[in-house]
Amino acid sequence: MSAVAAGPGVRVVATRAEVRDAVRGWRAAGERVGLVPTMGYLHQGHLSLVDHARAGAHRVAMSIFVNPLQFGAGEDLDRYPRDLERDLELARSRGVDLVFTPARAEMYPEGEPRVAVVPDEAIAGRLCGASRPGHFRGVLTVVAKLFGVFTPDVAVFGQKDYQQATLIRAMVSDLEMPVRVDVAPVVREPDGLAMSSRNVFLSADERERALALSRALRRAGELFAAGEADAAVLRAALLRELAAPGVEPEYAEVVDPRTLAGVVRAFPGAVCAVAARVGKTRLIDNAVLP
Ligand code: AMP
Repeated sequence: MSAVAAGPGVRVVATRAEVRDAVRGWRAAGERVGLVPTMGYLHQGHLSLVDHARAGAHRVAMSIFVNPLQFGAGEDLDRYPRDLERDLELARSRGVDLVFTPARAEMYPEGEPRVAVVPDEAIAGRLCGASRPGHFRGVLTVVAKLFGVFTPDVAVFGQKDYQQATLIRAMVSDLEMPVRVDVAPVVREPDGLAMSSRNVFLSADERERALALSRALRRAGELFAAGEADAAVLRAALLRELAAPGVEPEYAEVVDPRTLAGVVRAFPGAVCAVAARVGKTRLIDNAVLP
């Protein structure tokens, strides 16, 4: 399949071979390659990762692939929002050099992958992993595969998915993958809601209720800044704010930034992490204590 242009500047390709060709050309010219993996339906959070990648690489590539391997049965794979035309326009406007939009069979020609990256349950089984068994196996497997296709110098992920970023760092370190992993801060709407492709599912009413997540994190941050370091107290405050009408909390934790294990005493750098269901939509958010 040949590359199609999406306006000046951005190449759009659907095969691994075309990616390898493009990357070979860049490397031959001495250019460093940055990669931003996404599932599309782009927002300013994704685009901030592009800016971040640009700071460490001459060329920025983005993948847009709704990875079936990371969705469990009964999750929202089929209704995950998609709008490739809009994504390509946003990517182009932000100076992305290449967008990789593979079909499922291009990524998983064997159907199910024969080999997968399986994370330690001690890290992957808690927080989001507790309600989404196999999710991080799917994430790490597709990211490892994208690293193999792009061989990027730097790959950028969002702190929004804190556990994901932690596991990707662990994979790169433990499996000696030659790529630098950067993690960029959470980008929020003006009222505090963390940007997410899934926010499109929220009704006006739910959109308002969804502020409980960022409000909870803010409250815990204020308590900590005022001297409260008892994690049980911070956790209770998170849950109290989270448990607003129409919001069904899934977890509220204060965790060690490296192991993601719950802490007894909070400290600067510890992470408050929350997940909740607002209507049918599952939302997550987190904040590092100052
Ligand atoms: P997704 O398309 O949701 O899989 O996200 C692709 C990348 O964008 C991941 O590294 C996410 O952590 C990151 N990301 C998603 N939302 C945000 C946000 N609000 N701020 C910063 N990064 C984000």
